[in-house]
Amino acid sequence: MIYDVIIIGGGLSGLVNAIELGRGGLSVLLIEKKDYPQHRVCGEYVSNEVLPYLKSLGFDPFSIGAKNLSRFQLSSNSGTIAETELPLGGFGLSRYAFDEALYKIALSHAVSFSLNETVEKVEEINGIFKVKTQKGKEFESKIVLGSQGKRSVLDKSLDRKFINKRTAYFAVKCHYRGDFPDDLVSLHNFKGGYCGLSMVENADINVCYLSWESHLKKYGSIERMQKELLSQNPYLKKVFSDWEPVFKSPLSISQIYFSQKELNSNGILMSGDAAGLIYPLCGNGMAMAIHGAKILSELVLSYFNSEISKPELEISYQKNWKKEFSGRLNAGATLQHFFGNPFVSGTAVRLLKTFPGIGKKVIKATHGKALA
Ligand SMILES: Cc1cc2nc3c(=O)[nH]c(=O)nc-3n(C[C@H](O)[C@H](O)[C@H](O)COP(=O)(O)OP(=O)(O)OC[C@H]3O[C@@H](n4cnc5c(N)ncnc54)[C@H](O)[C@@H]3O)c2cc1C
Repeated sequence: MIYDVIIIGGGLSGLVNAIELGRGGLSVLLIEKKDYPQHRVCGEYVSNEVLPYLKSLGFDPFSIGAKNLSRFQLSSNSGTIAETELPLGGFGLSRYAFDEALYKIALSHAVSFSLNETVEKVEEINGIFKVKTQKGKEFESKIVLGSQGKRSVLDKSLDRKFINKRTAYFAVKCHYRGDFPDDLVSLHNFKGGYCGLSMVENADINVCYLSWESHLKKYGSIERMQKELLSQNPYLKKVFSDWEPVFKSPLSISQIYFSQKELNSNGILMSGDAAGLIYPLCGNGMAMAIHGAKILSELVLSYFNSEISKPELEISYQKNWKKEFSGRLNAGATLQHFFGNPFVSGTAVRLLKTFPGIGKKVIKATHGKALA
């Protein structure tokens, strides 16, 4: 069978593309290297800018226990704290629950899934894409969307530019039980990184941080780094000494590349983190992945309805993506400089304390308007 569309990767961008194209009547296959449900390294704060849109897809996060998050706190390395309201707010929901809910909606729109299959290679021959997996399966389609996330074997086989860039960030996530307000997102600086805390469903607290790989090497283990480096911030000390971890061991990822990547690699249109990833301190990567998938899937539907040609699809996608997200990526990259350094983060917290309006302006610069 030749599918209309094959989607590689079933995180948020892949699943939203699948739901939109499935409900638009196309034959869609989503190939995902893992299974559902599964935990992912993510801060799990979702900006409300995508809430009306998610509801239009048939998903209400509060029906499965998401927490309403409306306040933001920032602490310097030494524990000086400032607080502001979140202009649009957001919700806290684990990726374990979020992705699985969207997976079920995609199934209800007749999307086919090939789970536990890793796509290794894609070739285009006479306008038909041949998608090959590591286990030797082969599928065919007229269009391929790449939603494979931050870094994948597929990026290597496509020889994408970013794959050879040496990036030194790594990230850790774990759920904890402890004493934390339901409506708060807090971001705590430590030397060389920052750590976000916020509630998700089931009274779990998401603890997720970004740091340099060199720090991990220096301390030798995640546990030691948390105890000796992150715990220099008194708010984080409380987390790692008083709270109860829910996972047996934390999840971690490394070699994270931020910023924009090529949107079209060998005819594969990239979506979500595969197109570009914003620094996590902005708390907006998931909303961008969802919004970007909406932009892409609407254009793909126009192509199959013969309203636009293939070159028009490719050009419009690049144009619309850049218009919507390039400014936010740049704002996020500038903001990243204010974190992790004791002096700079201390100044940022003092500024936010004195002028809380600045915080709202900065948050607006990295976020979009509500998406219907
Ligand atoms: C430390 C950190 C904290 C973050 N915190 C937040 C936050 O609080 N709020 C927020 O909005 N955003 C946050 N983000 C960003 C957010 O996690 C991402 O933007 C979001 O997950 C993007 O979704 P995606 O679908 O593009 O990629 P992913 O969710 O990564 O999904 C990619 C999928 O592709 C699959 N895959 C990969 N390769 C292949 C292959 N070859 N074949 C088949 N399948 C494949 C993977 O298994 C995975 O399921 C954070 C990011 C980081 C790094």
